[in-house]
Amino acid sequence: MNPNSKTLKAALFHGAGQPWTIITISDTNFNEDRAIIETEACTVCSSDIHTVMGRRGGPTPSVLGHEAIGRVWKLPDSWTLKDVEGRPCAIGQRLVWGVAASCGECLFCQNAIPQKCQRLVKYGHHRYTMGETPRGGFSQCVELVEGTPVVGLSDAIPAGMACLAACAGATVAATLRMAGGQKGQQILVYGGGVLGAIACRMAKSLGADLVICIEPDQLRRERALIFGADHAMDPSDLSIDDKLKSIAHDGLGADQALEFSGSGTAFASSMRSVRTGGMIVLAGAVFPAGSIEIEPEQIVRQMLTIRGVHNYSAIDLQSATVFLESEYRKFPEIWLMLAGESFAIDEMEKAFAWAAKSPGVRAIISMKK
Ligand SMILES: [Zn+2]
Ligand SMILES: [Zn+2]
Repeated sequence: MNPNSKTLKAALFHGAGQPWTIITISDTNFNEDRAIIETEACTVCSSDIHTVMGRRGGPTPSVLGHEAIGRVWKLPDSWTLKDVEGRPCAIGQRLVWGVAASCGECLFCQNAIPQKCQRLVKYGHHRYTMGETPRGGFSQCVELVEGTPVVGLSDAIPAGMACLAACAGATVAATLRMAGGQKGQQILVYGGGVLGAIACRMAKSLGADLVICIEPDQLRRERALIFGADHAMDPSDLSIDDKLKSIAHDGLGADQALEFSGSGTAFASSMRSVRTGGMIVLAGAVFPAGSIEIEPEQIVRQMLTIRGVHNYSAIDLQSATVFLESEYRKFPEIWLMLAGESFAIDEMEKAFAWAAKSPGVRAIISMKK
C-alpha cells in the first residue's frame, strides 16, 4: 500500500436488528470520474430511522445518510462540479449536496421533477459493494456523480444545522414552493417536528399572515410558537377543525395546509379546515400510513387543490441553504433547538437509539469526533 494513502471510515448497515460494521476506504480507490467530498457531518433523518427500525425496506448492506455536508477533496477528471448557479467548485470548498442526481434530459427532468428522473442516483440508499467509495453520508468520504445539485456553504453555520438543508430544509422549501406564494396567506402546518418547525419559520419569513401548527406533543407545540407560529393546537382536541376554521379568515378556513406528519387523519382534517379554493400539499406521508375516505364531491364543490411533494429539486436546496444561513445569523439560539446530540461514526447503534427516542430533533454524526 502507498505510504501516503489515507484510509477513511464508513458505517455499514446490514439490516434491521443487525449490528453495524465499520469499513475502511482507501483514497487510492477513488473513481477519477467522481467528485470526492470529505464529509464533515451527517444528521439522522427520520427516514433513516424508519429504515434502521425495519419499517421501510432498502437494499443491504448500505451506507445510509442523506443529510450531509463536507468539503471538496478531489474534483472529477471528466466533468466539472458546479454549484446550482453554475459556478465551478474548488478543492476545499464547504458544500451541501442534494439527495439525488438527475440526468436533466428525461421526461421527468424536462417537467421540473428531477427527483423522479428515470436515471436517478439517490444518495444514502443504494447497495454498497466492497471497495467502492460510499454515496451515503455516514462515511468520512462520499463520491458525487454528475448531475448532483450542490450549494456552497459559509464557514459560519454549524455543521449540524447546515446538514438540515439537504433533506428537511429543502423538502420544506419544495412544499412551500408547490403551495404557491405565502405572502399574506393563512397557513396550517400539520406536524411540529423538524420539518414542521422549519415550515413555520419559512412561511413567516415569506410573509405569511397567519401560521397555525397542529402537533400532538406539547413541547413541540411550544417550540412551533418560538419558530413563528401564531397558534399551536393539539389534534386530539375533538373540535380542532372548527377551531382551525374559526381562526382562519374569520371562519372561512385557511388558504393553505402543509402536511408534514404523514398521518391520514391530518390530511382529513386539512380537507375540512381549508377555505373554498384552498391548497393542500402533502409531504409527510413517505411510508404507508393507512388509507382514508375521500368524498370527491367535496373536492369539486370546495374547489380544492391537493398536491403531493416528494423530495425536491436544485432550486429548493438552494433556497433552503440561503434561508438556513441567514436565519442562523439572526437567531442562532432558536435554530440550535433542532440540533440533538453528536455521535462519532463508530457509535451508530447509540446514535440511532438516541434518535429513535428523540423525535423532533436531529442526532448528528460528526466525522470530527
Ligand atoms: Zn431525509
Ligand atoms: Zn432525468
